[in-house]
Parts: sequence; structure tokens; C-alpha cells
Amino acid sequence: MNIQSLFDSTATGQISGDPEGGQSAQLLGTLTGARVYPRSITSLNGKLYFLMKEAGGKYLAVVSQSPLEIKLAQVHQRRLQVSDEALHLTTMPLNAPSAIFLRQQINWLQPTLLGLSKSAGCGDRLGLATPGHVRAIRSCKGGVRPIYAQQSIREMARTSRTPTQVLDDAMWGAFQEGWRSGFGADADHLKTYEDIDSCVAAGYTFYTFDPGAYVDNESNPAKFEQLPWADLETTISDTHQRYSTQMEPQILASGLVKYGRALVHVKQMYRHLRSTMAGRPYEVEVSVDETDQPTTASEHLIIATELHRLGVEWVSLAPRFVGRFEKGVDYIGDVNVFEKDCAEHARLARQLGPYKLSIHSGSDKFSIYPIVVRWTGELVHLKTAGTSYLEALRTVARCDANLFRQVYRLAHERYAEDRASYHVSADPARAPRADLSGVNDLQAVLNQFDARQMLHVCFGSILATYGEPIKAVLEQNEETHYADLERHFKRHLEAFC
Ligand SMILES: [Zn+2]
Repeated sequence: MNIQSLFDSTATGQISGDPEGGQSAQLLGTLTGARVYPRSITSLNGKLYFLMKEAGGKYLAVVSQSPLEIKLAQVHQRRLQVSDEALHLTTMPLNAPSAIFLRQQINWLQPTLLGLSKSAGCGDRLGLATPGHVRAIRSCKGGVRPIYAQQSIREMARTSRTPTQVLDDAMWGAFQEGWRSGFGADADHLKTYEDIDSCVAAGYTFYTFDPGAYVDNESNPAKFEQLPWADLETTISDTHQRYSTQMEPQILASGLVKYGRALVHVKQMYRHLRSTMAGRPYEVEVSVDETDQPTTASEHLIIATELHRLGVEWVSLAPRFVGRFEKGVDYIGDVNVFEKDCAEHARLARQLGPYKLSIHSGSDKFSIYPIVVRWTGELVHLKTAGTSYLEALRTVARCDANLFRQVYRLAHERYAEDRASYHVSADPARAPRADLSGVNDLQAVLNQFDARQMLHVCFGSILATYGEPIKAVLEQNEETHYADLERHFKRHLEAFC
């Protein structure tokens, strides 16, 4: 194998005879003097694209036969002497202009639609987890399509990231690991037009609308007549007519009082998205998971019927299931009751769509995954977010005990305040003590229910204080970090694969 043979490209950009890129990485490493990420090497249209690491960090590298014409700041070009001919090496930092450049060259790094395929969302608050996610997804032989870029606007604010950064970080991770099968980008829990606009500008493809603020949890049927009928684009009598064979008027009234204003909000968000996208492809999820009361079967029927009538199209719906879906821990509640509930929602999703059932706060719910799969089959989306950050803390506990102890102490200090917007039931008195005195096995702290939730909901405070040292540990120990993530996500995907 010589450097010239790397230019013989295949349709997928992989090097023929070296699918894992090991030999090619050695060649390119010798030539550039940097560490080359083997799976990233992509040969397309007479150019080699790959990721490399030098003392200053990671760079995108392009090797070409003639100098690359590129007008970006911070781009470095030099000649590489190979026997009697010269090749050209262009390197650039992993920033937004470089990401735009790479997406233009390699089209499978542009986010794509997932449609009704079975799928999993892998949120990543630190922007370093995607290679671990890719390894787990790749091992799933039954085929789960990934969303590697996914963050809610709330979490972006708490981690000081922009929609573009979230998308770019996921793309760099997919590129590093040689993921060539497409991935989605989920603008999660959108609540306003501004939220939509910023994610459209960044290039997201999957839009999750969260009308939770408009859900009336009291669902008092006496308020039925005061619903915003003009905005619902229907009348009271037509509505009675529509459901006359399906449910009692009282049930209809309380269901529509509960969700009526939320449905108007979804309609408005959807129409705003449609006009903003101006013909570009997108897909939508509707989520009502963050409400006080579970979504009943009749309410599910009302939501789907009314949204169809209003012209909204969606690929997945996240109802609020029975039981408790707390952050970072297993399902809390009777799994048999959950099974009945899940079966009913899955039946409706098939009958009224088909569309997927989306399981929010879906991480670590190991006891219900087999049930979910049994009833949804292929029509499921599993959404996880904070659990990857907990795995990052596991890597920190492994590699820098001192830093982990400081992080854990901060979680104790902040928990009372930071838990406010989350559904969690951790009690610090049950968690290992703040100073971790007498605790030798720091890994075990991350497996303890209360400690886990405290670390989970305090992520904003923890990253504000220790974000830089945490990232430094993860970057220095990236293989350990990816291995922790891969193991954790394989556990999640087992039932779905
Ligand atoms: Zn949610």
C-alpha cells in the first residue's frame, strides 16, 4: 500500500483493502507527523480527508495533488514530499467554517431525515461523546438510525452552546469514527418561533415541538366552550360530531380543554417551520411528555385527530406515559401498568399514523425497553440526553479522582436549587457524603440512585465551574471515554437491536 493507492476512491470514501483505515493512518501519520484517526480517512474525488491530532488539538486535514483553493482564515497549507512528486496538505481547526467546508465535500455528514425508521437520539452536552455513540450504534445489527446532534434550547443555554456548535460537534464525531450511514439532528423541546429560527439557520432536520406550557393540567370540562375555537379552526358542534362515535362528550371536553391550546401552539409552530424551511426537507416530533398527568388513550386520539385536521405532519409523538421517567435512573412504577399504557399508545400510533412513539427521558430505563420493543416494533424513537454526561463523569472518576471529588461536592451544594425544573426524587441524605469520606470505589458513586440524579440535574453548575478541566480529562483520555459510552449505550440498544 502506498500513498497514491489511497486516492483510488470507493463510493463510500473508504480505502479499498483497508476499511478500518489502520494502514492508511500509518502512512499518513508518517507523512504528516501527526496522529491520524484511522476511521476518519475518506477518499473522495481525488482528495483525502481525515482528522489528525497534534499538540495544539484536533485538525481537519486534506491531502490533494494540487493546492486546495480555499479562502478561510486559520488554514495552513504545506507541501508533502513523496518520492519524486509533491502532495499538498491543508489543515484547519475544527471550527464552524471548517465544518461548513467539510459538509460541502462529504454529503453524508449533512444531517438527514430518519422517517419512520427505528431510531435513537443521543444527546451530548459536552460535545465530545459522538464517537462513543457511533461505536454503540454500529454494533447494533438490527439497525437503529441515530440522531447524533440533539439538544434542547434549555440545555444549550445551560451549557453555553449554540445550535451550530451542537450540530458541528456531532458531525466531527461522526467524521472521526467514519460514520457514513447518515444521522439526524434534533432541535429538541422547541417552544418559540425564535427557537425554530436559530435551529433552521444551523441546518437541523428534526424539530421537536414542546407545547407543554399550554397544557391545562386541570382539564376541567366546564371550560370547553371557552376554548379558542377560531384558532382551532373548527366549531363546538363540528367537534362533537367528529367524536360522536368515539368517546363520551365529557371525556372529549376534558381532553380538549387539557390539550386545546397546546394544539393551537403546535399548529402555529408547524406552519412557522414550514414557511421558514421554504421547501427544504424536515421532520417533526410532537412531545407532551413534560406534563403533570399521563396522556390517556382518549387524549392521544384527540391530539392526533386534531393535528391531522390542522394539517400538521409528524414522524413521532412523545406522550406522557404512566409512572415516573426520572433523569438518569430506571423506570419508577409498576411495569405491568406501563405495559398496558405502552401497548395502547403503540396501537394508536399505528392506527392513526403510522408514526413512532417517542420515549423521552429514555436513558437508563432498562426494565421497560423489552416492553417498549414488544409493542412498538419498529415504530419507536428512544431519546436520551444527560446520561452521556454521566458517563463522562465516570471517565473523570476513573482518570482524575480529585476532580471527580470536587464535582461531587459541588453537586451536593447545588442540588437543592438546581433540581427545580426537573422531575427527580434524589435525597442527598441517602447519597454518599459530600466529602466522599470512606468511599474508595468512585465508580460506585455513579451507580447510586441519589448521587446519580444529583450529578445529573446539577450539570449546568458543574460545567460552569469545572467544564474546562472535565473536557481536558476527556480529551486526554478519549479512548477511555468512548469505551465507557459504548458500553453504556450498548446496554441501552440491546433490546432494540
Ligand atoms: Zn422530553
